[in-house]
Amino acid sequence: GKKVAICEQVEDPREAKGVVRREITRIVSPGVVLDPDTLDASTNNFLGAIVQGLDGIGFAYVDASTGDFNACRTDDFSQLRIELARVEPREIIFPEKSQGISQKLSGILPHASIHSAPDSYFEPSKARARLTQWAELEGVPPEVALSAGGLIGYLEGLQRSETLQVNQLEIYEVKNYLVMDETAVSDLELFRTLTDNRKKGSLLGAIDRTRTPMGARLLKRWLAYPLVDEDKINRRLDAVAELYKDSVQRRDLIDSLKALHDMERLATRAVTGTATPRELRSLAISMEGLTPLREELAACQATALIEISRELVNPPPPLSKAALHLDDDPPATIREGGIFKEGYNDELDKLRELARGGKQWLLEYEARQRQDTGITSLKIRYNRVFGYYMEVTRPNLHLVPEHYLRKQTLVNAERFYTPELKEYEEKVLSAQDQSHLLEEELFVALMEEVAAHRGPILKAASAVARLDVFSSFAELAQDQDYTRPEVAMDDRIELSESRHPVVEQVLPTGRFVPNDILLDNEENQLLIITGPNMAGKSTIMRQVALVVILGQMGSFVPARNAHIGIADRIFTRVGATDSLARGLSTFMVEMTEAAEILKRATRRSLVILDEVGRGTSTYDGLSIAWSMTEYLHDFLRSRTLFATHYHELTQLSQTRKRVKNVSVAVKEFNDEILFLHRLVEGATNRSYGVQVARLAGVPRPVIERSKEILASLEEGNGDIQIQRPRPDRKRRGAATSRDLFSAGREQVETASPVDEGARKLRRRIEELSLDTFTPIEALNLLYSMKQELSKEGKKKPSAE
Ligand code: ATP
Repeated sequence: GKKVAICEQVEDPREAKGVVRREITRIVSPGVVLDPDTLDASTNNFLGAIVQGLDGIGFAYVDASTGDFNACRTDDFSQLRIELARVEPREIIFPEKSQGISQKLSGILPHASIHSAPDSYFEPSKARARLTQWAELEGVPPEVALSAGGLIGYLEGLQRSETLQVNQLEIYEVKNYLVMDETAVSDLELFRTLTDNRKKGSLLGAIDRTRTPMGARLLKRWLAYPLVDEDKINRRLDAVAELYKDSVQRRDLIDSLKALHDMERLATRAVTGTATPRELRSLAISMEGLTPLREELAACQATALIEISRELVNPPPPLSKAALHLDDDPPATIREGGIFKEGYNDELDKLRELARGGKQWLLEYEARQRQDTGITSLKIRYNRVFGYYMEVTRPNLHLVPEHYLRKQTLVNAERFYTPELKEYEEKVLSAQDQSHLLEEELFVALMEEVAAHRGPILKAASAVARLDVFSSFAELAQDQDYTRPEVAMDDRIELSESRHPVVEQVLPTGRFVPNDILLDNEENQLLIITGPNMAGKSTIMRQVALVVILGQMGSFVPARNAHIGIADRIFTRVGATDSLARGLSTFMVEMTEAAEILKRATRRSLVILDEVGRGTSTYDGLSIAWSMTEYLHDFLRSRTLFATHYHELTQLSQTRKRVKNVSVAVKEFNDEILFLHRLVEGATNRSYGVQVARLAGVPRPVIERSKEILASLEEGNGDIQIQRPRPDRKRRGAATSRDLFSAGREQVETASPVDEGARKLRRRIEELSLDTFTPIEALNLLYSMKQELSKEGKKKPSAE
């Protein structure tokens, strides 16, 4: 969250008078880091800016390390949150005068640094003027222009002396992509798992076969922004299909891709003048590596692949030069020489020869002096203060010839030099110095030449990224037996033998049970999925969503056959994720998400509801679930999968034409259950919660007692009255308490229905939400109830 100001010497120390002048040359902030070693190669590092206008919100973001520069307009903050969840900027700025924004963003992106920046950056005329270099401003909504212009201003402030290297601004429409809000992105574990926040175990982790950093970043982008346009999706699928067919070609492509470095970030480093010789060589070698890629693509038919091969240009001349002349193992700094091979520059070669030859001359000179004087112990030495000298020990001083000049006297020796030695000393030292200086100059010049070709280099890098993702999809399809989906602008999602892309990879091969599923707008718009705990309800629902996302990204999908009627949005209401950071209770979160779905879902949306309503009392929960289902059916007509333990909901299929009951099958024998994980038509009316509790290790007495309670509840408290939404709770409650407490507990056997203690207990039980209970909580509760009952019993011995 901090910024680091980098202060450098801005004049040559050799020419400086007095103290060398220093200046702040650059400020590194979380959103503006250029050093590849500090950055995660597979992730963009975005800096974002938000401006609230009269008619919407502008959101611009830039990755200074790659030059990616994008912006969009959102209607409101809830739409903005969706964008933020997908882009995940590391740093976000907003105008100082709009302090309210930080409040509105609270809880989202906990790892981002969110702060205000001076209003002057966002001053309309200045912001627009600044932006003209990056975008055609006609028709751009004012808040978008302000956010992008403000962002550039802030970036210029941080980069100071460095030229700002940012691509042309790309303004996109949110509606041109499949919308998945922050909840869907996290519930569906697209990028990381819910439990430990890791890529492994997420969809991205399961599908990523990319070989280059550019490809890895693009795959993430495509996953965050699946398409909604049939033609565009098919264009991607065509490319994947072609690479899928030819496994030899794919192998070769993958081998060539593996050799490429992060061309985008290296190009940016070259352009900002911060690339090291080693980095420039990596860039040059990568550009050279495009030729085999292009050759491998020569016979391609798919439009997307043809486009790629066109963009894989030959290296621009300065990079060919770099590939040819930079040392095979160049240094990581530019100051110490060793950058170029012999033959790049005549003057450099001469200086190097001189430096090397000079040393040779010294050895020869030493030998000659020994011979001429007869002083066998004479040594030529060097130190930084006196330079080169000849040292003669005291006993040999009488042999020293006249023309030797004294330099220094020591206790046991004297040091001498000759004009010849002095001359060579100068040559050798300065030759080395000069060669280093010359190398530095030559390198900087070469880097500048390279920088002038930034455009084609970045274009090639983007082509590599696409090719990498396509071949990654093709490889995945081959490895995991995926199939090309048929995509169309219709309402039907029909999958046969579909699998969950992540769970199937975790289970031993062949253990995942594939399932068929049909959603449409005729008889299968809303599937109510019932079945025991652990049967696989959540898995199948997520699986459908993930297959749709994969298909709309342009990937093959885990199924035997798949038809995907393109979805405009995917909504999820899955599990009980707390959002304490936003100050909301579990149930409040659940309802906020439900509200969002009901407000925004369309006929083209895919809605996944997992046990909606379980965070509150049974009656409230069931009522909400019930009326939501009706609303989704009657008004929104969104394709919906609704898993529930409210078996009463299955009765809706009797009155609602497009509601269908399906369930996940189990086999039952001797009080045991076997999960078949197979989706079958029809409802089930049992949850087998007690059996699952036993499998989970809940102690036997609790299980036995639960069975008794369950039997009693089932007997006395069977159906919810569908016709009358407000059942007579009082009467039913009284019956329940009587049934319940008569089941096996002596001390309350004769308790009257009006008994206050029993009534209290009844209320507590009624309010229990068993689905969210842990076994320990259940046990504790039963224990405390039992204690209460025995207290009651002691208080009223007469009743007993
Ligand atoms: P609950 O009602 O308790 O939330 P659930 O019905 O939603 O349970 P899931 O969480 O979907 O159950 O599945 C439980 C486990 O069953 C999964 O973790 C997975 O290991 C296994 N499973 C689910 N579906 C399949 C399948 N089709 N084939 C094989 N195993 C599966």
